[in-house]
Amino acid sequence: MRKTDNILELIEKRGTVLGDGGYLIELERRGWVDSGSGREKVGTGKGSGQFTPEVAIEHPDALRELHLEFLNAGSQVLQALTFFGTREKLNRAGYGEQTEAINAAAVRIAREVAGSGRLVAGSVSRTQLFERQGPSAASHVRDLISEQVRLLADAGVDFLILETFFHLQEMLIAIECSRATGLPIIATMTFRPKLTECSDGHSPADCARSMVDAGAAAVGANCEQEPERMLPIIRDMRRAVSVPIAAQPATFRTTDEIPCFTRLPQFPDEMEAIQLPRSSFEGFARRAKDEGVQYLGGCCGCNAAYIHAFSRGLALFNYHKDPG
Ligand SMILES: [Zn+2]
Repeated sequence: MRKTDNILELIEKRGTVLGDGGYLIELERRGWVDSGSGREKVGTGKGSGQFTPEVAIEHPDALRELHLEFLNAGSQVLQALTFFGTREKLNRAGYGEQTEAINAAAVRIAREVAGSGRLVAGSVSRTQLFERQGPSAASHVRDLISEQVRLLADAGVDFLILETFFHLQEMLIAIECSRATGLPIIATMTFRPKLTECSDGHSPADCARSMVDAGAAAVGANCEQEPERMLPIIRDMRRAVSVPIAAQPATFRTTDEIPCFTRLPQFPDEMEAIQLPRSSFEGFARRAKDEGVQYLGGCCGCNAAYIHAFSRGLALFNYHKDPG
């Protein structure tokens, strides 16, 4: 593929673009990321406090290796590990003063692995301040996300993925901040604890319309659910808008009563017990086109084995080679 393709041209050309998997959970399993388990009780409760991306400066080889594994499994895009990389979140983990260094290093490492043939996305997540403080956090959130997207743009990402937002209001702030960079935006909401509405009460269809109206080039859902349970959300969005739809499900089995893995008792220390087989991702990839998914990747729990399964499902037979 030509480096000059932007993400929208790539989607147009390929039909479905294969992204990568989830970094923080996988690197936590490997011993390089702190889950905060048992220490900080905020947001979701146990274990939601940390999962910050300082691995980019503390153990860059571990991050580089995971990027390489995704690339080898067929990823056409690498996401820089800048999730939870806003200054206030990093500050809570003791890394606030390294905000610039962590964001710059994460982009540099992704770019080194991506080379000239793959795109690099900057990852921007919720700040957790809407969960902690409510809508009064809005102006602080705007400052924090504005700073991070500026750092990501300066570091040279090709586009932005805004992901794992529970509140539409916070997502719309993030889109507004991101538009200032001029980079293409993929915006994906996360639905918890209900599948039918986000934390501030908007249906998937309403979220999709609002995100498109705000300037997102592609919209969708990520995290918290396995592919099967994410499908109704995707379909609702697909019917509501005409832009490409993105889906990055988690690899954990949720329940009808609790359709979000971070609310299950297994989070964060016993997730091996609810890990899905990779075959479910292969099947999801086969259906992706019919379901209108044009950007496909994995979120929490998705390592290279699942991306490889996606590659098989999408029939990227030479997944280990440049499919271009
Ligand atoms: Zn996730």
